[in-house]
Amino acid sequence: MSVPFLSLARQTQSLKAEALKALEAVIDSQGFANGPAVQAFEQDFAEYLGVRHVVGVNSGTSALHASLICAGVKPDDEVITVSHTWISTAWAISYCGARPVFIDVEDRTAGMDPSQIERRITSRTRAIVVVHLYGHPADLDPILEIANRHNLPVIEDAAQSIGARYKGKATGTFGLVNATSFYPGKNLGAWGDAGAVMTNDDAIAARVRLLRDHAQASRHHHVELGFNWRMDGFQGAILSIKLKQLDQWNTRRRAIAAKYRSAFSNLRNLRFLAENSWAEPSWHIFPVFCSARDELRRLLELRGVSTGIHYPTPIHLQPAYQWLGVPRGELPHTERMAAEEISLPMFAELSDQEVDDVIAAVVAASNELG
Ligand SMILES: *Cc1c(COP(=O)(O)O)cnc(C)c1O
Repeated sequence: MSVPFLSLARQTQSLKAEALKALEAVIDSQGFANGPAVQAFEQDFAEYLGVRHVVGVNSGTSALHASLICAGVKPDDEVITVSHTWISTAWAISYCGARPVFIDVEDRTAGMDPSQIERRITSRTRAIVVVHLYGHPADLDPILEIANRHNLPVIEDAAQSIGARYKGKATGTFGLVNATSFYPGKNLGAWGDAGAVMTNDDAIAARVRLLRDHAQASRHHHVELGFNWRMDGFQGAILSIKLKQLDQWNTRRRAIAAKYRSAFSNLRNLRFLAENSWAEPSWHIFPVFCSARDELRRLLELRGVSTGIHYPTPIHLQPAYQWLGVPRGELPHTERMAAEEISLPMFAELSDQEVDDVIAAVVAASNELG
């Protein structure tokens, strides 16, 4: 018995014929950089999310960088965010010359703890970046309320939460300007790198369209510091095909998550995230938490179940961010999650048998740990 942590092969195989046709159309139209396939995907995706504008770019990291520029983040500003996330959330802040100010996460969402925000707001604070980690939405309403009261823009990092909803509305549409990633392993993954900015603000959307193509207002006329953030035409074509199945795939992920939760509810040495009443998570990752994480991981590996860790080292403890001087112990929930998290196999193409195999392995390993 062996269950992979993630297999893209099953999905790519089933999409291959339709995808090859779409890629051929891109080749025939020469729409390799941005172009008609990207434009078509932007429209499809905006409609899907219920947002005015989607602007495709070359990665989620670029999408975050663009979002922060458009939110007005400048050198020496402070941006409040979390340390329990993928490093790109912090990179984007640093690319603007600003300083990430990390606050702790809450156990029930693994997302930003709204009660920690206000005491970290200073005269230099310029924005708040919320991450919907694992695909479970952060508790947006209290965060937006605090941000509005202090006149601060909110930016959502929705890289893991595409298709997830908060109180019935798609994540990635709440902030002033928001980012997502179509890295191949994401819930809506391209066949290469890609990302997108989502916003209801016409001026911001227009600015991202400029920035991504060298800030050219017209040919050879560069109106500000620009970037090469164009999305490949091939990726636009693949994403339009895959978008049609996103809800179906996320529904399958939620069914697997429900099975995991009900099977693990009596295991005393294992914790996991519930679905909060206001949340429809996309379960990009299904995390469980165990104080004997490394031992649990070893026991699962012995039983043929591959797992991951997201993420073993919080950003404030990474070598690249030692200069911030945030000491170990400063963010207790974050540090505990980093020490205890283990990601179980979670993707739409997992068979019922594989899900049962994972459950049996986890239950046996948990009992062995005692
Ligand atoms: C994947 C991811 C990103 C970055 O996306 P790329 O497309 O790899 O640049 C940013 N934030 C989070 C939370 C992610 O999971």
